[in-house]
Amino acid sequence: MTDLLKIAVPSKGRLSDRTLELLSKAGLHVPRHARRLLADVNGRWRLLFVRTGDIPEYVATGTADAGITGLDQVAESDLPVQTLLPLGFGRCRLVVAVPRLSGISEPAQLAGKRVATIFPRLTARFFAQRGISVEIVPLSGATEVAPQVGVAEAITDLVETGSTLRQNGLVELETLLRSEAVLIANPQSSDARKPLFYELQAALKSVLDAQTKRYLMVNLPQARLEEVKALLPGATAPTVMHLLGREDWVALHAVVPEDQINGLIPALKRYGAEGLLVLPIERMVP
Ligand code: AMP
Repeated sequence: MTDLLKIAVPSKGRLSDRTLELLSKAGLHVPRHARRLLADVNGRWRLLFVRTGDIPEYVATGTADAGITGLDQVAESDLPVQTLLPLGFGRCRLVVAVPRLSGISEPAQLAGKRVATIFPRLTARFFAQRGISVEIVPLSGATEVAPQVGVAEAITDLVETGSTLRQNGLVELETLLRSEAVLIANPQSSDARKPLFYELQAALKSVLDAQTKRYLMVNLPQARLEEVKALLPGATAPTVMHLLGREDWVALHAVVPEDQINGLIPALKRYGAEGLLVLPIERMVP
């Protein structure tokens, strides 16, 4: 079955649900009971459910053609995979942190000290680039307790808000990397699969683009049409239709950035608008 595009996706953990939700919106539905090791979708895609941290390896070796994982995992792996598309979820930062009472306020003060991390390569590179010599202590999890138990004087860890660090009496010194989920690909995947790559990428992008937009439908007195059009600078060529039985009224439909909707409503009302509807958009293809 050479014409199936194999996509490695997280089998569990933080990125799993959002990945499957995004794929489902893009037309790749995987029923819950089918989320085992492998699931074939629409006769064209084969999903491989594997650990988030192993996905760069699966893709780099060609076991999978594409994958969805955190950019942090891709960077740490240092493997030759191509990053095709940022996916806008799983946002986090890899930071250096130390105990609040350590008296340390910048990375240079960690010279000669131990840094515990689940990202040994990125951490070693960060300190090497600054000419700071530290001992890297590789761990497989729970780095935030490392200083308390005496394993290291500092850590690097992923944070979203920083509240877990604070709860453990740690403070951030610096951000090493900003991450989010990304679509990656094996650059050597066969040419025969290229159309499927483009299809996957375009399908995912159409969902992402639609997420920040809304479809606005509104009825207006025709006389106010030009003023209302001027209110919608972001919308490309709104559709204007006549309203049956209301000669001097029109219906206007436009695609509008979601964050402008609340501000638009009172402005539209001032121009006499009625019957406003705001609808979600599933996909957008320019
Ligand atoms: P997992 O180990 O399967 O739960 O996935 C961890 C991945 O989730 C990381 O590699 C990041 O890409 C992403 N992530 C997003 N926010 C966080 C966070 N606050 N802590 C850890 N991982 C996060």
